[in-house]
Amino acid sequence: SGARVRRAQNKRLPEYLERGVDVKFTDVAGLGKIRLELEEIVKFFTHGDMYRRRGVKIPGGILLCGPPGVGKTLLAKAVAGEAGVNFFSISASQFVEIYVGVGASRVRALYQEAKENAPSVVFIDELDAVGRERGLIKGSGGQERDATLNQLLVSLDGFEGRGDVITIASTNRPDILDPALVRPGRFDRKIFIPKPGLIGRIEILKVHARKKSMAEDVDYIAVASMTDGMVGAELANIVEVAAINMMRDSRTEVTTDDLLQAAQMEERGMLDRKERSPDIWKQVAINEAAMAVVAVNFSDLKNIEFVTIAPRAGRELGYVRVKMDPVRFNEGMLTRQSLLDHITVQLAPRAADEIWFGSDQLSTIWAETADNARSAARTFVLGGLSEKYHGISDFWVADRINVFHCQELDSEAIRIVNTCYERAKEILQQNRTLMDAIVNELVEKKNLTKQDFFHLVELHGSLKPMPPTI
Ligand code: ADP
Repeated sequence: SGARVRRAQNKRLPEYLERGVDVKFTDVAGLGKIRLELEEIVKFFTHGDMYRRRGVKIPGGILLCGPPGVGKTLLAKAVAGEAGVNFFSISASQFVEIYVGVGASRVRALYQEAKENAPSVVFIDELDAVGRERGLIKGSGGQERDATLNQLLVSLDGFEGRGDVITIASTNRPDILDPALVRPGRFDRKIFIPKPGLIGRIEILKVHARKKSMAEDVDYIAVASMTDGMVGAELANIVEVAAINMMRDSRTEVTTDDLLQAAQMEERGMLDRKERSPDIWKQVAINEAAMAVVAVNFSDLKNIEFVTIAPRAGRELGYVRVKMDPVRFNEGMLTRQSLLDHITVQLAPRAADEIWFGSDQLSTIWAETADNARSAARTFVLGGLSEKYHGISDFWVADRINVFHCQELDSEAIRIVNTCYERAKEILQQNRTLMDAIVNELVEKKNLTKQDFFHLVELHGSLKPMPPTI
């Protein structure tokens, strides 16, 4: 109603201006070539006249596209910091209010302030919250959002080509933005910020390490290799947590080990300092060692990053981290053999339990990995990868699976599981000395780094080239 609208509009508007932005490009690491694009935006401010004199249009808005935590906000600030201009920021989700008209008036006020304090950067976080294609949201919430979006379009047009107020917006979904937003003169420049690669992660860790007292021999490559897939925000957090670790132990320098511990915590949750009896430690160690020892025999799974039996709150008993080919594994392009190898690794804990404790002393420690093996074996058969069933007339191309198919499927999956199981047992039998060495060291240290692990493999391993499983 009218009364409610008026009251809402009279609320004091938030302060958008961030004064004294002192972020510089050197604070943002791992940008590679993207940095050149951003330096150009700085030039729109510092050399605006030159652009105008030569009739070059300055973009009204720049879209920074990428997943959360890759440093989009930081970059927008760095642009303002480098250009020495004011920085206004707001999250688009703040525009989307229940009261009709509030979002639009906030946008207006934001740009009003930005203009009065020009030159300035206006940063809109999560633009997709308000910039989603119109008509996609029904009801009054949708109407309100449309009004806000319209105001944003008007405000953007007001600065077109002038270069004294430049809008930078961030989004993870440039594909769903309203076409009107990305028209020339509006957000007509897109910059994609991907997750950092290995080199990027090393650089980001180093940027955050600048402000901390680090040991001289910190192995950033080791930490970066262990943080595959992580973004800047997570890496920054790892350095913070590592420094807290150092303080807790009353030490004066952050070590590689602090960073590796913090990285594991970032990935897998808090260390749970619970105690286990010696035979439980040993059993968990056998379980994890078996997976690592079998995996290291297979070309797609041999890149062991670390093996740990340190307990974590609410997580599995231990963990073997294998670095896998991202194309193969993340994009689902497994080969037939690598799927069989995966099944074999998942069966290793069960095989080890049998070898080390005997079939009458079996535990259920392997239940979860055996489940993984079973379901992978079904995928294998259903996908027609089993040689018995890759003919065109077979059930994996049938419309409906009937009882007969189910029996066939099961018996073939069972055959695959059994074959892989025997193979896991064979590898473990061949490597009993290596297994014992890893188990002893795991029980003692709880964590084996890549170096620790491969050192033992070199000393005790008997790795032979593996023939195809089936
Ligand atoms: P986004 O806006 O993409 O969600 P942020 O800019 O808010 O990410 O990143 C959060 C924090 O993570 C930053 O303040 C910074 O400490 C750290 N960070 C992220 N990316 C980087 C990077 N490329 N270099 C250095 N630090 C980074």
